[in-house]
Amino acid sequence: MSDSADVIVVGAGIVGASTAYWLAQFGVSNLIVLERAVPASGATGKSGALVRLHYPNPHETRLALESLRFFQEWEARVGTPSPFVRAGFLQVVAPEDEEKLRANVAMQRALGAPVELLGPEAVAELEPWRDVTGLTVAAYEPESGYADPVAATFALLHRARQAGAEIRIGERVLAIDVDRERVVGVRTERGRIAAGTVVLAVGPWANQLLTPLGLEYGLVPRRVQVAIFRWPSDLAPRHCCGIDTSLGLWYRPEGETSTLVGLEAGVVPADPDQYAETADASFVPAARAAIARRYPGLAHGIARGGWAGVVMQSPDGRPLIGPVPGYTGLFAMLGDSGTSFKTAPAVGRALAEWVVHGAPAQDLSAFRLTRFAEGQSWVDPTDYARAHRTVSR
Ligand SMILES: Cc1cc2nc3c(=O)[nH]c(=O)nc-3n(C[C@H](O)[C@H](O)[C@H](O)COP(=O)(O)OP(=O)(O)OC[C@H]3O[C@@H](n4cnc5c(N)ncnc54)[C@H](O)[C@@H]3O)c2cc1C
Repeated sequence: MSDSADVIVVGAGIVGASTAYWLAQFGVSNLIVLERAVPASGATGKSGALVRLHYPNPHETRLALESLRFFQEWEARVGTPSPFVRAGFLQVVAPEDEEKLRANVAMQRALGAPVELLGPEAVAELEPWRDVTGLTVAAYEPESGYADPVAATFALLHRARQAGAEIRIGERVLAIDVDRERVVGVRTERGRIAAGTVVLAVGPWANQLLTPLGLEYGLVPRRVQVAIFRWPSDLAPRHCCGIDTSLGLWYRPEGETSTLVGLEAGVVPADPDQYAETADASFVPAARAAIARRYPGLAHGIARGGWAGVVMQSPDGRPLIGPVPGYTGLFAMLGDSGTSFKTAPAVGRALAEWVVHGAPAQDLSAFRLTRFAEGQSWVDPTDYARAHRTVSR
């Protein structure tokens, strides 16, 4: 085992795995990935992993679109069976947000996103089992869907390892070593590893490594729950993935006969080292009641379990991506805010470009880590404002 590397990636969730994959693609072979537990053991392994394009700003839409193309081309790019399932995606909002929805779809289409507006008749035709009462318009993405987040993470790491990366499982980074304002390596449970470049992709654990460096971004780990319901029928309808901000609800198919349901309600601060990994008893009926508003056939959906994971919420709900100001050689993706599985292919590429080329091909200044210090919290005029929205933002 080496005690030095050109680049160290800390964390083997989907973001660390994608970064390692892209670093390897760009020819960085002296690369070590350090993972405290096992790959995808953080938010990634608990993810709903919806892969959709709907965001209320061009910056996240571009990342999502680039990433959707990556998921669609998975086999050619990664060389393993695709973890992506094309199920379609429907975005529904409260009546007062409909003009915003139309504006967002216009923006997304201008960027080349495959998305269209559907009226209630078209939605009912797409999903005849859906209750469309009160629905006037929805955004429909025929190419979107969801993925197996664990398979995706392992496949990206496997590809990085084939190109020379060393993946160290069960080795926790205790501190980032700096010499004045330059990164010189990391200290792990097993010793020191020297490196001039360190990429932090540690999800909800970020504060443990940032605080000793005097870095504070207002990041709060939050616990998010899901539940799975078997359709109470011999055949289950093959529905789209969806977000309904009027209900604080998101969902997707799970296997051939079930639906995975998440809610914004009950998302609370949590400790990623110590949290309840199963869904609360009260969450299951709440999730069933919410999904039954749209799919009445699930009013008696058979509970098949659920779980919780921890995401890292930033103060404005948008990720922070790029060089860490004050420390040469330190890069990070922070504050995934519950929506960063789908964008990880593009985010990993951008981080690798920063490391190798000095800047990403896309302008990611909107995600800069300095925005809070500048008093420039990110606000989208066409956001469907709800406090602390995570997965369904
Ligand atoms: C219930 C739920 C549903 C979600 N649904 C969606 C969705 O539908 N679509 C979507 O896009 N996103 C969704 N998300 C969010 C998405 O899963 C996350 O944004 C994404 O997985 C974050 O990936 P990451 O690699 O940044 O973090 P993580 O997956 O948390 O990975 C961080 C890794 O770093 C490791 N680590 C931490 N500290 C250290 C250390 N000191 N040393 C070494 N290793 C360390 C951890 O063990 C972990 O493996 C959901 C999340 C949850 C919990």
